[in-house]
Amino acid sequence: MTNTTKYIFVTGGVTSSLGKGIIAASLAKLLQGQGYRVTIQKLDPYINVDPGTLNPYEHGECYVTEDGAETDLDLGHYERFLNVPTSQANNVTTGRIYQSVIQKERRGEFLGKTVQVVPHITNEIKRRVQILGKSGDYDIVITEIGGTVGDIESLPYIEAVRQLRWDLGENNGVVIHLTLVPYLSAAGELKTKPTQHSVKTLMESGVQADILVCRTEHNLPKDLRRKLALFCNVKEEAVIQSIDASTIYDVPNLMLEEGLDKVVLKKLGLKNSTPDISIWNKFVHRHKNPKTEVTIGLIGKYVELQDSYKSILEAFIHAGAENEVKVKVESVHSEYLNEDNIKLKLGHLDGVLVAPGFGERGIEGKITAVKFVRENNIPFLGICLGMQMAVIEFARNVLEIKDADSAEMNANTSNPVIDLMEDQKSVTDKGGTMRLGAWACELKEGSIVYDLYNTKSIKERHRHRYEFNSNYKEQMDAAGMVATGLNPDTGLVEIVEVSNHPWFVGVQYHPEYKSTVANPHPLFVAFIKAALKKKSKK
Ligand code: GLN
Repeated sequence: MTNTTKYIFVTGGVTSSLGKGIIAASLAKLLQGQGYRVTIQKLDPYINVDPGTLNPYEHGECYVTEDGAETDLDLGHYERFLNVPTSQANNVTTGRIYQSVIQKERRGEFLGKTVQVVPHITNEIKRRVQILGKSGDYDIVITEIGGTVGDIESLPYIEAVRQLRWDLGENNGVVIHLTLVPYLSAAGELKTKPTQHSVKTLMESGVQADILVCRTEHNLPKDLRRKLALFCNVKEEAVIQSIDASTIYDVPNLMLEEGLDKVVLKKLGLKNSTPDISIWNKFVHRHKNPKTEVTIGLIGKYVELQDSYKSILEAFIHAGAENEVKVKVESVHSEYLNEDNIKLKLGHLDGVLVAPGFGERGIEGKITAVKFVRENNIPFLGICLGMQMAVIEFARNVLEIKDADSAEMNANTSNPVIDLMEDQKSVTDKGGTMRLGAWACELKEGSIVYDLYNTKSIKERHRHRYEFNSNYKEQMDAAGMVATGLNPDTGLVEIVEVSNHPWFVGVQYHPEYKSTVANPHPLFVAFIKAALKKKSKK
């Protein structure tokens, strides 16, 4: 393999939401399939130190890594495609860059110099880009630059790319520019002008794109590719079309057909062969050829946003393919759920997932949903806040502790069955201070989870401040809500199951973050299996 790490930079032009993350992950998949060790990094040009403090309405789901970084949801795509964990180093924001530079300045490390965007901020960006490369773990690092070329906040990043290409030398860095080729239906034509302008904007910052990936709704004819190549200073073979796909999981093969991997490797002076993506293709085949269908209710308060439960939706796709079943997800807004409409909204479902979340809005609807599925033997998976709502519901309706609540929603309840974790009590800062990342959990023999994980010790990722209050453990246990997963060091309850129910599991952690194409999460796989069983009994 190579001695020097090679760098691929992915920039975006014309508009946001073109799917840079999916293109980066698809390319990485093809390179990984050729035996290269690849990782992907996302640079986000906003001032928040990380997306952990961002509302899902602003930024979609916050993804959490093994080492506890709260990151952009694109890192979820990277892990799902590559089946390789990411880390703190894989997501860097402008806020974090400035934070480190300012800390260095306060420590006097700049020796009295004036601290400036160039070179201090750009140096810090360059250092962050190269951390992964210098680890020795990767042959190729793909760096995706968030935002759109021409944005004020992207400028230092583009400047850092310009300098890095120079520093790295010939054949060690390549720039892929993702753009849009819109189709004007009135004229019946695909238009190249926005791409030409976007490439020109990039050039004004001193960066020449090597490869254009053009998002389009229609096939790009040869003459149009030739025109783009001519006007944008790239080879014709480096004009790659990225046509709208019915699923993101088609994109690696679409990129393979277009030869994106081949052009990239040629530019980097690396050997090109046919990628082995057979496990991937087997998954895609199963995903597209389901034998039957189950309908799962996703109960949450951000259901109108397609990105806010991204990892959960993708985990359903993986688990569906594994079971050869199409998982139809019906989103149910918890704020509008009540005793009067619950049967109408949930009665027909084969399984219900109550989603994670924060704050009071919509929680009574979640509790009502848990009661309905518990009493009607509908398979249930509660994740984080969803698990906490299941505990409250059980305490209120089975143990008859009527004011049972979470201290998050009602700080004054006399029965905080969900309470603030001890080590959270002194925490005042909101950013990066939750219980984050992978924690160990020991499973109880004979439980549903013990069976499906097929092992006693697991590690799962967390993101929360509140926990099952162990003072209620004995009572709950005796009444049929059993703690089947405990943290071996602290005794914290991480999993609950209801014993006289066909499949009722609540987990304090987020299994969805660990589900990948190559490794569908066992909890989701078993949940879908339970839903299938429920359906077959109808
Ligand atoms: N709000 C809850 C807590 O902080 C649950 C968090 C979550 O669902 N991720 O404990």
